[in-house]
Amino acid sequence: MTEVSGDQKKQYVLVPGGAGFIGSHCVIELVTAGYTPIAVDNECNSSRECLKRVEQITGCKIISYKIDCLDLESLRDIFKKYPIYAIINCAALKSVGESVQKPILYYKNNIGCLLNLLTCMEEFNVKNFLFSSSATVYGTPKYLPLDEKHPCIGDAITNPYGKSKYICEHILKDTMVAHPEWNIILLRYFNPVGAHKTGLIGENPIGKPNNLMPYIAQVVVGRLPYVNIFGTDYNTPDGTGVRDYIHVVDVAMGHIAAMKQFEINCGLKIYNLGTGKGYSVREMIKALEKASGKTIPYKECSRRSGDLATVYADPTLAAQELGWTAQRNLDEMCEDLWRWQSNNPNGFQ
Ligand code: UDP
Repeated sequence: MTEVSGDQKKQYVLVPGGAGFIGSHCVIELVTAGYTPIAVDNECNSSRECLKRVEQITGCKIISYKIDCLDLESLRDIFKKYPIYAIINCAALKSVGESVQKPILYYKNNIGCLLNLLTCMEEFNVKNFLFSSSATVYGTPKYLPLDEKHPCIGDAITNPYGKSKYICEHILKDTMVAHPEWNIILLRYFNPVGAHKTGLIGENPIGKPNNLMPYIAQVVVGRLPYVNIFGTDYNTPDGTGVRDYIHVVDVAMGHIAAMKQFEINCGLKIYNLGTGKGYSVREMIKALEKASGKTIPYKECSRRSGDLATVYADPTLAAQELGWTAQRNLDEMCEDLWRWQSNNPNGFQ
């Protein structure tokens, strides 16, 4: 295994949340693109084993630290040690349901981590920041598909998780006014799913999954008895909710494409990361049945509160400005998810 040093490789990129689902896939694509990622993670919803597998996939030793970004002193130590070129911030709590029960924890964590990172950027003269945002900041769609010009109305966001992303976006926009020489990119993810094609890493929710695809995957491996379909009376073709599911590797590659903007001093930029295509809950169950060759039991239930009928992206801007479009289709998302889940029925444990 090669120890990657800074002069061998282009630049150090700090990845808070680097052992998580999106962060770990970003770490792989950073290595592939010639950057030197530094993964920091408090491991509250991730596992050390994940980064070991990333090393197996990339053949590179990954620089990593178990650090909570709320701990400003420990974070400072990292900035002292490495000349950081850019930050890809994937460190956040992300369970919508939990955020309703624990709003203080969510605001403290998601906003506090961002503020500490920005503090270090000021202190250590780091100018490039990429933020994992979410399509949830759009609230209830006034039109579809959602482009970046769609208004984001904080009051219309139904949970503290979504609001924390909305507030973070505002903090970053205000920061940009004070630091016009910085580059800040907000990437609004739609619904990242799938797993790395090796089947070595994937989504590993602690406790019962909240999101649809990891839930279905755990039903297929027998960890959960059936899928609850939340709502069959939406105004959609088959009555179930429609979302823009995007392969996690496409999301990670969107980050690499966005980082090129730093080289041309892009300032503040906002991009959707989605495919532009929506699939219903029933279609997702069928697609995973096809990939796994198994019948998936489900129950039709009432709507989950705060859920929307249909959400999908207009990904044109990212295509035009970043030259990035999602490459992996629904079959590939499900095949890769199934490879990960069937090889690792209990995740990283
Ligand atoms: N959903 C469902 N059963 C579940 C989880 C989700 O029917 O166990 C539905 C949900 O109502 C929505 C879609 O699946 O229509 C995607 O939900 P998810 O939580 O994955 O993403 P989000 O709602 O945040 O877009």
